[in-house]
Amino acid sequence: MAEIIDGKKLGERIKEKIREQIPLLEKQYGRRPSLYVIIVGDDEGSMRYVNNKVNTANSLGMDARLITLKSNIYEKELINIIHVLNEDPLVDGIMVQLPLPSHINEDHVVDAIAKDKDVDGFNSLNVGSLWQGTHGIAPCTPKGVIQLIKTTGVPISGKFAVIVGRSNIVGKPVAKLLLDENATVAIAHTGTENLKAITSLADILVVAAGQEKLITADMVKPGAVVIDVGITRNAEGKVVGDVDFDAVKGIAGFITPVPGGVGPLTIAMLMKNTMECFLNHAEAHSDVSKLWATIIKARIGGHKQ
Ligand code: NAD
Repeated sequence: MAEIIDGKKLGERIKEKIREQIPLLEKQYGRRPSLYVIIVGDDEGSMRYVNNKVNTANSLGMDARLITLKSNIYEKELINIIHVLNEDPLVDGIMVQLPLPSHINEDHVVDAIAKDKDVDGFNSLNVGSLWQGTHGIAPCTPKGVIQLIKTTGVPISGKFAVIVGRSNIVGKPVAKLLLDENATVAIAHTGTENLKAITSLADILVVAAGQEKLITADMVKPGAVVIDVGITRNAEGKVVGDVDFDAVKGIAGFITPVPGGVGPLTIAMLMKNTMECFLNHAEAHSDVSKLWATIIKARIGGHKQ
């Protein structure tokens, strides 16, 4: 029977470490890490997500603000607001909740965010840094996936990892982060022939497809680490993942539940990225600031790109 990886507990632990450091940062630098979350329109689901992000950041002691914009805002106006935040030295992190209304080009907006404030890690410069292995900000959900795998104690190095899904925000960055940990990586997708033949070889299986019960017990290697990123609402209105949890937990070594697996890590990693942006900005000030920032980074657990 698989051990269930408790994402909620791990997420709380990460946030607690951040909460402890913020008063020290405020004492040292005279201000707290700040996060600006922008939402365009009033979609109920997206509003719930952004409120959760802002409230979590504030509950940790950060200074987080929500900017709500009308759904008919012009792309140029939205980009102008981002430019103002980019220029403000008191702003550490900026994120724009996606999706955006269809008249706005998401790539233009995401690329308008300064590289050093792009807490989602979605803009082209950070994506480039991720793939080049140079310093940048890695996206939250993929970072959370790596933390969840590490919490099992199963070494990633040398293992065969299969990712189902090739999106820019989950599948591809998860693959790169696993590659950085020395896994041998395969990415499966809608064009993959005989998915089962590939997933059943995986020591580490990460599924991010958005298809309920895509992964059944016969597709999983006994003892594998199974990370279910999927979130969909099924016909009964229940939030479910991509893995047939009840069946697969009898085969896998470790498995994440949905909800309570990857979701809480995504938000914890957003907090961590905001802290890292703040510390990078602080580091730029003086040698003493640099030393202090290095100490805090070590305390919250640095991330190797
Ligand atoms: P996406 O739709 O952009 O990509 C889905 C990918 O899955 C595609 O690359 C597609 O090729 C692949 N896929 C779909 N059906 C498949 C099938 N039958 N066989 C093989 N491959 C298949 O989605 P996304 O943005 O990457 O998100 C994936 C899932 O993860 C969604 O359910 C999303 O809600 C969820 N998600 C969760 C979090 C979180 O914090 N827990 C964060 C981001 C996304």
